[in-house]
Amino acid sequence: MTLRLPEGKRLAVSLSPDFDAHSVWIGTFRTSSQMSLSRGEFGAEVGAPRLLETFERYGITTTWCIPTHTMQTFPGAVAAVAEAGHEIAAHGVYHEYVPKLELEEERRLMELQLRMHEELIGRRPRGYRSPALDITDHTLDILHEFGIEWDSSLMGRDFYPYHPRMVTSIDLELGNQFGAPSPVLEFPVSWGLDDFPELEMLKGNATQQANEVVLQRWKDAFDFAYQRCPGGMMTLTLHPQTIGRSHNLLMLEKFIEYVLGHDGVWFPTISEAADTWAGSAA
Ligand SMILES: [Zn+2]
Repeated sequence: MTLRLPEGKRLAVSLSPDFDAHSVWIGTFRTSSQMSLSRGEFGAEVGAPRLLETFERYGITTTWCIPTHTMQTFPGAVAAVAEAGHEIAAHGVYHEYVPKLELEEERRLMELQLRMHEELIGRRPRGYRSPALDITDHTLDILHEFGIEWDSSLMGRDFYPYHPRMVTSIDLELGNQFGAPSPVLEFPVSWGLDDFPELEMLKGNATQQANEVVLQRWKDAFDFAYQRCPGGMMTLTLHPQTIGRSHNLLMLEKFIEYVLGHDGVWFPTISEAADTWAGSAA
């Protein structure tokens, strides 16, 4: 099933930042080294303002997935995102690694982050992206229970939203079983369309990918989606601390200009795209 895009539009493109700042280092990489924290600080103090300027210049309004830890630590930078008219979605409390959470703790952190969204930015989010893009068997049920309409963490499709099914049993000899489709609408992501793993120096990954290689892959993915997946959405996951670095931002701007060279491209927030979903849960 496809999105019902506005008249004359062929493909939606979501350039959606995960504004992790310090939290990805604390929550995912389990480090509080001053060097790591300063990389997150760069995202808040330099990367996010640069990205906002780029989006404004090209007339793009998008969805920023923001841990409440970032809202607490860098309130001015988050306020600037909201003031620029972007959507803010949930992205955990402290970039917690969701698959390791006990059910009770997962539910507590969900309740806490939604309450803090209301307290800190005055709005309850409509969508969620899990920190580090992984969930438990219970996450989609918890999202539905708390009234979250969409998720953007899974990789079971590429350019069309879908209603994901959890794998409910794994049998090496008889094959696996799926549960029923979730009412939560999934906007799929992929590691190949994410700036962080290839453009950041991480342990065991001392060499960053060349910008030309990354840009070519983004263009190839866009070409495929544009030509073969009408009514779909290409979602690119960006991180202000990564894409905000000079050479990476120039690459993003080249990609935006390439996309804008095609007729019928729409840059919605993810909730705007969800509002056009014409599919069923089948
Ligand atoms: Zn993140």
